Amino acid sequence: RFISFEGIDGSGKSTQARRLAAALTHAGHRVIATREPGGSSGAEEIRRLLLEGATDRWSAETEILLFTAARRDHLERTIRPALDRGAWVVTDRFADSTRVYQGVTRGDLRAVVDRLHDLMIGVEPDLTVLIDIDPAEGLTRARARAGAEMRFEDMGIAVQARMRAAFLDLAAAAPARFAVIDGAQPADAVAAQVLAAVTARLG
Ligand code: C5P
Repeated sequence: RFISFEGIDGSGKSTQARRLAAALTHAGHRVIATREPGGSSGAEEIRRLLLEGATDRWSAETEILLFTAARRDHLERTIRPALDRGAWVVTDRFADSTRVYQGVTRGDLRAVVDRLHDLMIGVEPDLTVLIDIDPAEGLTRARARAGAEMRFEDMGIAVQARMRAAFLDLAAAAPARFAVIDGAQPADAVAAQVLAAVTARLG
């Protein structure tokens, strides 16, 4: 079983991904908890190239290639081997993040993202949990977090709002894959709804 968590910065998706992984482990499953960009040693190196330095260090196209290269390594070295062993994989971000972040924040590059995904990745999670949050609330939370990596903070609420809308559009286009959870609720309530969605969809 392959589960991804998605959402804008400050949505609480990383916390919820950890909590789901812990709950599944507690239920007796073998679970690999991982994240993007990163999740394998090569992809973590690419993460540093992407997140250190100025936001415009790479062109938008080069950035898409780097995110896709990182995802390919993550898939080859971590995700596929774990799924082949019968483990559950819970990842904090996957391809939907690239569709949204690289697809809409630096020009309309969705077609490029989609073609590269088809060519080099070609798989989707069995379930994607979208933690939906108001962008103002998300920014407040993300800023409060020590050491947070926030690449789009300076672009402000308008960009966060576009990304939120883009995530919701993806969910509306693929309702069988997505569970949209209201991230404004207390963390315990979000975790309970996530677990209920996973149990209902994946057993
Ligand atoms: O999810 P996490 O907070 O670790 O993401 C780190 C940073 O990378 C965030 O600022 C996020 O906006 C950015 N990011 C991105 N494109 C992606 C995934 C994450 O710009 N595809």
